[in-house]
Amino acid sequence: MTLDKYHEKRDFTRTPEPAGAADPSGTAAAAARRFIIQKHHARTLHYDLRLEDDGVLKSWAVPKGPSLDPAEKHLAVAVEDHPLEYGDFEGSIPEGEYGGGKVIVWDRGTFEPFGEGETFAEMLERGAAKIRLHGEKLQGGFALIRTRWGGKDKNWLLIKEKDQHARPGYDVTKEEPLSVLSGRDVDEVE
Ligand code: MN
Repeated sequence: MTLDKYHEKRDFTRTPEPAGAADPSGTAAAAARRFIIQKHHARTLHYDLRLEDDGVLKSWAVPKGPSLDPAEKHLAVAVEDHPLEYGDFEGSIPEGEYGGGKVIVWDRGTFEPFGEGETFAEMLERGAAKIRLHGEKLQGGFALIRTRWGGKDKNWLLIKEKDQHARPGYDVTKEEPLSVLSGRDVDEVE
């Protein structure tokens, strides 16, 4: 695992985002894997899904955000790995910097991958991962499925599994817009 791409894109003398370790391998794994969804108002509003694996946060930008409705298949674009410390970040990235705009922690908790005899890394490599989220807003099973749209390998779909936590017709990003850390909405960040 490496954070090279994360570091290349940012000037840590200018952005308040955490730099993270130069080499995160060997970072002690937490007992439970963390998941975070940050609401990020950059040029456009989107949600960043982050899932802990092997000392980093695997990350996807989800333009429409997550849904609890199994009928909704939302695009999730894979982006560079982020440091674990990023999961606590709320703040304002200066204009002109990479990802310039405001960030809140929209949801967080733990997750577990579930599959037959595969590690989470193997599921991601294969392009089909199932995870169970234990968040404040999101619970239950979700699938992350890689698609071939645009001939690229960075486009995935995030889909709620049908289980007792599914809420057809409910718009969780609209009904529950605020930070689970500070109670602020994203544009209220200083
Ligand atoms: Mn983002």
